[in-house]
Amino acid sequence: PYTGPSAEEVLAKRREYLSPSFFHFYSKPLNLVDGKMQYLFDENGRRYLDAFGGIATVCCGHCHPDVVDAIVNQTKRLQHSTVLYLNHAIADFAEALASKLPGNLKVVFFTNSGTEANELAMMIARLYTGCHDMVSLRNAYHGNAAGTMGATAQRIWKFNIVQSGVHHAMNPDPYRGMFGSDGEKYAKDVHDLIEFGTSGNVAGFISEAIQGVGGIVELAPGYLPAVYKTIKNAGGLCIADEVQAGFARTGSHFWGFEGHGVVPDIVTMAKGIGNGIPLGAVVTTPEIGEVLTRRSYFNTFGGNPVCTAAGHAVLRVIEKEKLQDNAFKVGSYLKQRLVELKDKHDIIGDVRGKGLMLGVELVTDRKLKTPAKAEILHVMDQMKELGVLIGKGGFYGNVFRITPPLCFTKEDADFLVDAMDYTMSKM
Ligand code: PMP
Repeated sequence: PYTGPSAEEVLAKRREYLSPSFFHFYSKPLNLVDGKMQYLFDENGRRYLDAFGGIATVCCGHCHPDVVDAIVNQTKRLQHSTVLYLNHAIADFAEALASKLPGNLKVVFFTNSGTEANELAMMIARLYTGCHDMVSLRNAYHGNAAGTMGATAQRIWKFNIVQSGVHHAMNPDPYRGMFGSDGEKYAKDVHDLIEFGTSGNVAGFISEAIQGVGGIVELAPGYLPAVYKTIKNAGGLCIADEVQAGFARTGSHFWGFEGHGVVPDIVTMAKGIGNGIPLGAVVTTPEIGEVLTRRSYFNTFGGNPVCTAAGHAVLRVIEKEKLQDNAFKVGSYLKQRLVELKDKHDIIGDVRGKGLMLGVELVTDRKLKTPAKAEILHVMDQMKELGVLIGKGGFYGNVFRITPPLCFTKEDADFLVDAMDYTMSKM
């Protein structure tokens, strides 16, 4: 049993010694001390079903034994910066990762986070094209350093610092967007941004395949192929941010972009890649990757042996335990049950997403789509009391985000939906 500090003691220390910007879920924050696969345990040993997975970070399951073994064994042997000397861990993982990507996407740059990966990807696009202008989508989240905060497009995640060179296109949001599910109409906006807002040439375009922080928004069908064409015509590179949608999460494909039938020039990843270990990556073609040889480029811990050993173990677990197939099967079942729940509760305005990346948008008026901001907090709190942890996001903060570890079962899906149903019925 756990004998460490209580939730109150941790909270008091956090208030005194940690960033004042920290926020927490739940009116009474949870003190989590253990994790096992799709379960988390608090200080009293109470078990919770984890339907958020540390923001889509845990793909194989909390403390998956194969990943833990890989980390422990490599830590005992050597942990170091791998850029200056040879070590097999980084090379083996890069090879395995490249084998999961289409076309000539096979040169890997490792980073320590998603923000770093997107910063690097945008810099590569700018170097390769000699242009500065980038296009990203409204409602996107790509990181919080200077460049990526510019690409991120929700005011609550943006500080008022210089954010030059990013144009934010209309979000092809089938639920709230003005063109509904007509992807080609939204794509025209990117064409117009380039025509009116730039010289006619751009460095590139960056987008998620399904917006995560933005509230599990699936891009309208036909949007990405049309935009990729427009960007290519303007000399730019297309960047797929797979930080949340990658690593088998969408079930039908290993990468989110594959569900849209496009092949990006650059793919960025983090979160699920390491099952919770700090690790990110940028993958591109040899020709594009060449631009970084113009100067010295270095990242002390990017691709270190311990993190890359963990990443390699994650790929093996996804394969061995058929987690992509599970994400597809359990995700489809869960989505169907959520769609049925929508028929029962008017507060559910929309159910969307793919595989184990699902969203449930709460509204107080289905016609006006009025965000149910207070209600969602209540449902979330009550579900916690019933033993289910779920995520939240969206521009208005009124969308449940369901991104559990990919070992989630049909029974887990039933428990989640029953807990949501019970809570909504009592409101
Ligand atoms: N891209 C996407 C799609 C994300 O969801 C996030 C994190 N929420 C990031 C990039 C940034 O990743 P990190 O927090 O590891 O810097």
